[in-house]
Amino acid sequence: MIKSYFDNMVDGIEKSLASGDASARKRYALSVARLGSRLYSGKDKVAWCGVTAPFDLLNSMGVTSCFVEFIGAMLAGMGAADPLLGKIEDAGYGPDTCAYHRAVIAAAKDGMMPVPDFLVATSAPCTGGLAVMETLAREFSRDLFVLHIPQTDDPDSVSYLADQLRELTDFVAFHTKVPFDMEKLRAASVLTNQARKLMVDAYRLAAAKPSPVAGKTLNNFGVVVALLLGTQEAVDVCRSFRDEFARKVERGEAGVPGEKLRLLWIQNRIQFKNDITDYLENEWGAVVVADELNAVTFGPIDPDDPFPGIARRSISIPLNGSVDRRLENLLSMCRDYSIDGAINPCHWGCRQGTGASAMIATGLKAAGVPVLNMDVDCIDRRNFAPGQIKTRLEAFIEMLSENKGV
Ligand code: SF4
Repeated sequence: MIKSYFDNMVDGIEKSLASGDASARKRYALSVARLGSRLYSGKDKVAWCGVTAPFDLLNSMGVTSCFVEFIGAMLAGMGAADPLLGKIEDAGYGPDTCAYHRAVIAAAKDGMMPVPDFLVATSAPCTGGLAVMETLAREFSRDLFVLHIPQTDDPDSVSYLADQLRELTDFVAFHTKVPFDMEKLRAASVLTNQARKLMVDAYRLAAAKPSPVAGKTLNNFGVVVALLLGTQEAVDVCRSFRDEFARKVERGEAGVPGEKLRLLWIQNRIQFKNDITDYLENEWGAVVVADELNAVTFGPIDPDDPFPGIARRSISIPLNGSVDRRLENLLSMCRDYSIDGAINPCHWGCRQGTGASAMIATGLKAAGVPVLNMDVDCIDRRNFAPGQIKTRLEAFIEMLSENKGV
């Protein structure tokens, strides 16, 4: 079922591109669909991973890899997560754990995930994810490599993680029977740096007034594009966005005509079909112009000594480390994007997200950016109450409009 989903997606997008729809979002969707198709092809070496795994390193070693939460999000987007969540809860998994993870375990137990060649777990962004990887390794009877991601990027922590990454190359080579090739990792690092620079430019352009983005343009982009790092595909996708935004900014073209309010989305988007961004844009001219997870928090990698740079990137993600550091990133985004207000979906079961929500709301409010904390589950739509959400959004947007005098 999932293989044909990706294959049909590839066919459909290729046809749409051939008929002249060359939007950056389409090109990006094609790259992601092709990745999904390769994961399920049965031909590639496959690794299921944690979110902060070094995908450029794995790509350079010929491994098609993906973080497992991607499958939870995809199932929710397809409308296929609900029965799986019900089933796994009946099997004893608590409904108060992250539904990304419950959906993935249910999918693996139902034979909806290909058996990987090996797994690479990461202790960030959450140790819940680590536990899921241990469960999957048992389920698939495959070897698991665990990357312990430090919370800070001091020299000792970076070198601790860089050493683990070097050990990972031995583990991967053992399972693929292909020796590690430093030249290939050097080439992948150069491509990662090119994609990074294009991302920085694209985000800078997205901050223009009016913004060239609509609420869905960069939906899930920052997290998912990491899967393509180290490949020409990542560079091409990032260039498409950079060029599309540059053209729009030059013409003064808004992603949403009549942009009135500029919003920041905190942490993950809601992955099942919903009309929140349409409602905000159509009813209020309120546009999600920035996402917390669409930020370049890491520097370029030294291609001649890539392991420390890859380590720093894994450590740098917003959900790792202290809430103070996270708050600093959010405040800087609020300034860069001239944000009027922020929406935090407070995904049920996410200790990082809901645990930090009060501190983030207080910190942003002190800087003049009101925050709406919404209690939703970004994967499980069984308790989703669109009417209630819209009522809360309406009150929030009215308050922002009054503050701004629009
Ligand atoms: S939403 Fe939270 S608990 Fe779930 S995978 Fe992301 S960080 Fe982990």
